[in-house]
Amino acid sequence: MSNNYKRHVLNSKKEQLTADYKTRNPNYKTHKGMDFTDETGECIITAIAGGVVDSCRNDVLGVDHNYNTAGNYVRIKHPNDIYTRYLHMKKGSVSVKAGQTVKAGTKLGIMGETGDSYGIHLHFDVNVNGEYVDPLPYLMGEKSFTEISNNTEDEDEPTYPELRKGDKVTLKSAPLYASSTVSKKANTVTGVYYIYADGIINGRIRITTTKGNKDCTGWVNATDCKTENKTEPAKPAPVKPEPVQSTTLKVGDKVRVRKGALTYSNSYLASWVYDTVFDVQQVGTSASKDYIVIGLNGQVTAGMQAKDLTKV
Ligand SMILES: [Zn+2]
Repeated sequence: MSNNYKRHVLNSKKEQLTADYKTRNPNYKTHKGMDFTDETGECIITAIAGGVVDSCRNDVLGVDHNYNTAGNYVRIKHPNDIYTRYLHMKKGSVSVKAGQTVKAGTKLGIMGETGDSYGIHLHFDVNVNGEYVDPLPYLMGEKSFTEISNNTEDEDEPTYPELRKGDKVTLKSAPLYASSTVSKKANTVTGVYYIYADGIINGRIRITTTKGNKDCTGWVNATDCKTENKTEPAKPAPVKPEPVQSTTLKVGDKVRVRKGALTYSNSYLASWVYDTVFDVQQVGTSASKDYIVIGLNGQVTAGMQAKDLTKV
């Protein structure tokens, strides 16, 4: 049975609902999204609207009801603090990278059964200002991804100032956050700061007090950063690479990623990853003891090979 959606999350545009959003689902009142299969069997997942890939994962091996519950996924940031997520994709099928700009219809990956999934399907959800909301009005074209107006065109993309590691910026009463994702501000900052590392995540970037400082002050909105004069990219902070055996890494260790390393499944990483100290979040799986999950502030960044990590 075909749907009447005006926007789509499958290339075939033949989304078949298998589990509805919580308010229409008496059997699953906690379900934060809508689950779909593809009645054509094509199963190619596409972006519902334009935005920037905010995070993704491509290396979850299979069903995991406890840890990597999203499985392989893509999260897209749209304007106005609207995020969409596409969960449970097939391992290795994710075809976009964090930081990449996508349009409505851009292919994201292939439907799968990874994470907390029972059967091959797409879990699609919409988050506005930190809360999961009913995806249906977005699929029906009743709600816009751009303005609170009636405009249903959705090709606008957020634009951020070009900021590179070492750039000098001035901030004026700018909200400071402990991470790229927390909504509560830790403080405000005013004065001259420097970009700590490349990479705008969720519209935020890390700053530090002096150029090349090893300590990160926190995250500020990229749009709050006024660039003074561009400086040459700072030399990476000197690190003492000390290759370690996988067996010596444990959860909670601080690690850096070897320059140029790829993820466990050979996906590329955003450049800031190589300048960042991560926490080890998981060591090994039943399949491989060299599979190490790294992340920041309790959020998963990537699954890596132990040989590509150096303990800090
Ligand atoms: Zn679901």
